[in-house]
Amino acid sequence: MTASAETRTSIVWDYAPAPESADHIRLKDRYGLFVGGEFRDPADGRYEPTINPANEEPIAEVAWAGPGDIAAAVESAREAQPKWAGLRELERAKYLFRIARLIQERARELAVVESMDGGKPLRESRDVDIPLAAAHFFHYAGWADKLHYGVNAREVAPLGVVGQIVPWNFPLLMAAWKLAPALACGNTAILKPAETTPLTALLLAEICQEAELPPGVVTILPGNGETGAALVRSKQINKIAFTGSTAVGRDIQAALAGQDTKLTLELGGKSANIVFEDAALDQAVEGIVNGIFFNQGHVCCAGSRLLIQESVRDEVIAKLWQRMRRLRVGDPLDKNTDVGAINSAEQLERIEVLVAAGESEGATRRTIECELPDRGYWFAPTLFTDVSPAHRIAVEEIFGPVVSVLTFRTQAEAIEKANNSRYGLAAGIWTDKGAKAFEVASALKAGVVWQNTYNHFDPTAAFGGYKESGFGREGGPAGLRPYLQVIR
Ligand code: NAD
Repeated sequence: MTASAETRTSIVWDYAPAPESADHIRLKDRYGLFVGGEFRDPADGRYEPTINPANEEPIAEVAWAGPGDIAAAVESAREAQPKWAGLRELERAKYLFRIARLIQERARELAVVESMDGGKPLRESRDVDIPLAAAHFFHYAGWADKLHYGVNAREVAPLGVVGQIVPWNFPLLMAAWKLAPALACGNTAILKPAETTPLTALLLAEICQEAELPPGVVTILPGNGETGAALVRSKQINKIAFTGSTAVGRDIQAALAGQDTKLTLELGGKSANIVFEDAALDQAVEGIVNGIFFNQGHVCCAGSRLLIQESVRDEVIAKLWQRMRRLRVGDPLDKNTDVGAINSAEQLERIEVLVAAGESEGATRRTIECELPDRGYWFAPTLFTDVSPAHRIAVEEIFGPVVSVLTFRTQAEAIEKANNSRYGLAAGIWTDKGAKAFEVASALKAGVVWQNTYNHFDPTAAFGGYKESGFGREGGPAGLRPYLQVIR
């Protein structure tokens, strides 16, 4: 006799701890700036600790570059650029392939360091961040000798030296998104990692050494916002590629106004995840969970505005809440963890402020009950219902594990509500009608639209925003264009 559905689903699974060992990682106590192919002490910068957000313990000391360091780095990158651009294209490709292979070889170590430095669950750094970072280098290695085909058969040349500034939510992956196309196109690059997550970029510097990349082709300058601002304003840089908040993007755009410095901006978002009544609802619930709780919601394209068709609202919310209560929050290095630590005390505070605003503006809050560690920065997965489109939690980017539910009656209303945002980065559509999905997708003002999936990334596909989510595309052949000038 088979057990009834109720008996089968009422079994409680207790997970034993499954921590990944950190014994195999090779971290130094101190990392200098990576300039001219070697690590060096900052001349006018300083050393700062980088902290594990899951326990607030320092992991290593990292040099932050000062203005003099930046000037020296730009000079080294300028000197290296003509030789790098002058290499046979297949030679350049060879270095990118080597970097990709070395990322694969050191994948386990990189995944552990990424989770220690940033707080994301090991399952994600191991299965998403690191393999995708390698895939980006492989992809652009393939483009290095086909640039001309990537840009409509035009004759192209590199821009020169590019400055690249990345945030803390996907530290190695964002570095790969930036460096791989820039190098494939013959530019040299100066990368500034975020202040809270510099470590995997510094391991990538070691990988560049192992790959025998010519000195000066890749420079890594850790530091804070001041370092980023100084890099943007330094002379002799041909392009700035920035990923981060809309506020900083605006500042950078203003700083470069009137200058012949190219710019691409990948900024924030408040993406709509739209569930129609004809969707496979269990599948949609998995997609909602992945859309907002992946990487603690520290995802620019997170599906933070959940739009549900009214006829299935109660059912979807009930299923979602049941699924959310099973999420395991805790040690990022535990292989069973679904939701790890919030990246920093500052980010935790931002989330708390917006969640408090949600409550005071009248939305209904539900937060899952779970035991949170005593130390570190944590925020349990949270669902808001009774949200009005004017509430701050429906308008502002929370960048945390918090989803706001809005409802709609018709397809036209879904489109109108989804587009009612100053951002335009991504969207999700859940329906079993292909024609409806195409119709809605073409009406949405969002750079990426997923159908019956969410947060799916591929190096061959372009990614980027509209409106206050920025401009320029990364990934695929479209990702080459911002690193090239068309000669004729
Ligand atoms: P942030 O803008 O504060 O910082 C991003 C980077 O810019 C960091 O390296 C920081 O040190 C540097 N920086 C800070 N002030 C600067 C200045 N004045 N000039 C130059 N550089 C400066 O953003 P954050 O809090 O680190 O990251 C979260 C934001 O990034 C979110 O808004 C998120 O949506 C966005 N993001 C966007 C994408 C995308 O592809 N569109 C991807 C990831 C994150």
